Order: sequence, then C-alpha cells, then structure tokens
Amino acid sequence: MADVHFDRIALIGIGLIGSSIARDVKGLGLAKDVVISTRSAETLRRAEELALGTSYVSSPADSVRDADLVIVSVPVGASEDVAKQMAPHLKPGAIVTDVGSTKASVIAQMQPHMPSNVHFIPGHPLAGTEKSGPDAGFAGLFRGRWCIFTPLPDTDPAALSRLKAFWEALGSRIDEMDPQHHDKVLAIVSHLPHIIAYNIVGTADDLEAVTQSEVIKYSASGFRDFTRLAASDPTMWRDVCLHNKDAILEMLARFSEDLAYLQRAIRWGEGDKLFDLFTRTRDVRRSIIQAGQDVDAPDFGRHALDTKT
Ligand code: NAP
Repeated sequence: MADVHFDRIALIGIGLIGSSIARDVKGLGLAKDVVISTRSAETLRRAEELALGTSYVSSPADSVRDADLVIVSVPVGASEDVAKQMAPHLKPGAIVTDVGSTKASVIAQMQPHMPSNVHFIPGHPLAGTEKSGPDAGFAGLFRGRWCIFTPLPDTDPAALSRLKAFWEALGSRIDEMDPQHHDKVLAIVSHLPHIIAYNIVGTADDLEAVTQSEVIKYSASGFRDFTRLAASDPTMWRDVCLHNKDAILEMLARFSEDLAYLQRAIRWGEGDKLFDLFTRTRDVRRSIIQAGQDVDAPDFGRHALDTKT
C-alpha cells in the first residue's frame, strides 16, 4: 500500500477545492507542512485566519520549494502561468498534480514547463458546489466522489499509486482515462448542464414581460434548480468553456438536435414521443441514486426546509 503521508504539501490556489483539500489534509494528518500560496493578499490572509496550512507565501515559486506534493487548484486558464512560475523551483522527485475541470488544455499548458525529474500527474476530483473561495471549502467534500486521473504515457506507476492513495484517503473513488475522453465525458455530465443553466437563467432575466419578481416568486416550480448551477463561479466557467471548446461544441450540437426533436414533438402533439423520452430520463435519475451519487429524497430533500418558510 502506497504511503499517503507527505512531509510537505504545497497548495497553489486556496478556493473551494484547494481549501477543502487543506481541511482534509489537516484533519487526517496527511502532511507535516502545508504551504499555501494564492494570487491575492486578501485570500492568503483569509487562509491564514482559517488556519488552513502551516505557512503562507505569496508566490507559487516560494510555495513549492522542498514540497513532495504540489496541488494546483486555480482556474484552468491560469495553469500555464502557475506552471511557469513554479517549474524552476520544484523539488526533484516531487509529484505535481492539479484539479482542473478540463484536462487536455491543462496538460498542454503545464507539461512543457515541467522538469523531467518531477512526476506531473493531471487529475480532476468530480466534487464541488456553486460556492467559491476559502470559506466555501469543507472537510469531506471528496468523500464518495470520483477523482479522475489522466496520466501521461510515461507516468511513473509508483508516483501514480501514491497520488491515488492520497485521494483515496480523502474518500475519493478513483478512475483513470485519457484526457480527450475525460473532456468529452465532462462536457456532457458537467459542462453542458452548467451552460444550459446559465442560458435559461439568462433568458428568464431578459424576459421583462414576465416580471422578474414573478420569476423569483414562482421559482420553486423548477427554475430554482437551474439557478444553483448558474450561480457557479464566472471565472471558473468562462475558463472551462474556453478550454474545452471542441468537446462542448460537439455536445451542444447534439443537444440542439435533440431539442429540435422535442420542439417538433410538442408542435405536432406527438404525446407518445414526449412520454417515451420523459420515461427514459426518469430511469437515469434512478440509476444515479442507485450509484450512490444522490439521495432519494423528493426535491433533493428540500421539503423540510420549504415548510419552515
Ligand atoms: P475558487 O474557489 O474560485 O478559487 C480559485 C483559486 O485560484 C483562488 O485561490 C484564487 O486566488 C486563484 N486564482 C484565481 N484566478 C487566478 C489566476 N488568474 N492566477 C492564479 N491564481 C488564480 O475556485 P475552485 O472552485 O476552487 O476551482 C479551482 C479549480 O478546481 C478550477 O480549475 C476548477 O475548474 C476546478 N474544479 C472546480 C470544481 C467546483 O465545483 N468548483 C470542481 C472540480 C474541479 P485569489 O482568491 O487569491 O485571487
């Protein structure tokens, strides 16, 4: 069994994901030292107030010195800049990983800067919320959630096993795939749902005919389920769209075709087609619950909360 403990971990980026990792590392005692760096002085100060690490520095270069494990948790569009800054200061033999939501682009941005004597292993924990920043993170965020690795062809198996064991210690379930496949899968399970949510919430916001107060007032009839996704961090999602362009456009084309089919069925009163689709989609929800990826409570278990208000 690979050793999940590290002498020194460097966390570059300490938002929702970075700070959740920090909380787990601290809670589980997975490192002697946790060095945190982030772009702004304000976030760095907040990380220190929350005691997320053992030391706090302003530059990625300073954070990675002597670190055995480096985890980059910044918006995917900032990956190259961070890689360039830290590369000359990485400890030989260090494992360098990331948590970015797109993989081919992150690899293209980071790999060329990685010295040959470190192990660069791209990763992506499929866990998160619509909140961002160091206050949004929490211990246990990764428990029961998948973490996908997209190792490069020459990845050292021992380093990969160690990184997998680390994420398993955080409660993650582990999978491995090539970066292009990851980007395609994520385009449908994550990126498209967010884009659809941003779009529908944007449309409702534009519809002055239905007053905005009515959109808010009657939102529990369905609209509010989209608003959670559409409240996600604009920087992160701008970068995801720009850095997984091809897979997202491919899925959007497919989605538009299927939407046209639905539109036609509604126009021509083809109830059977509608019924068949709505039955098939219900089964998808059941499968998600069976796979332990959501709870079986009606309306995501919000009923108790609704009746209090
Ligand atoms: P977040 O809460 O917004 O935190 C972002 C962190 O990156 C902060 O420390 C921020 O620093 C720093 N940062 C922002 N812009 C930067 C730039 N241009 N250069 C250097 N650092 C920058 O974001 P997050 O939700 O933790 O997401 C981090 C990564 O995890 C992203 O790549 C995202 O795709 C991936 N991810 C997110 C989720 C999710 O649900 N949120 C799930 C899985 C993976 P300052 O605050 O100091 O500016």
